[in-house]
Amino acid sequence: MSEAHLKPVLVSACLLGQACRYDGRDSLRTILVERLTAEGFRPVPFCPEEAGGLGTPRPAAWIERGDAQQVLDGHAAVVTHAGDECTDAFRSGADQALELCREESIERAYLKEGSPSCGVCQTHVDGERVDGPGVTAAHLARSGIEVHGVD
Ligand code: SF4
Repeated sequence: MSEAHLKPVLVSACLLGQACRYDGRDSLRTILVERLTAEGFRPVPFCPEEAGGLGTPRPAAWIERGDAQQVLDGHAAVVTHAGDECTDAFRSGADQALELCREESIERAYLKEGSPSCGVCQTHVDGERVDGPGVTAAHLARSGIEVHGVD
């Protein structure tokens, strides 16, 4: 099957080996790449934090006193560990992720667990890893994209 016929799925770029994590490293999951390819999917890499304009490496960030839904609705913020606000960058990254899904007719995403952007079942709030999605995962899920967390 040519690549053009493979069904595209959005994948956190760090899971595909891109060194886009806040600490300048990747989170390559070779097994995920092999599984998606074997199942006929075409992984489309995307890093919402880089797309939102944050450089790599960058300070670690978390949702402050709230959750991702509240960030999306303008009722909570995302801050770095130094207290600098980066909410707009996180919301822009989430918007761009959804835009890419719509452009490429992507219906499913595989996202890195624990991230304040990509976490699906767990994210970071006030410096702690807690249950709940990150900003991009929440935005995609509430827009009808099927999201899967990868640890
Ligand atoms: S924002 Fe998502 S894709 Fe980018 S480094 Fe963090 S977990 Fe990976």
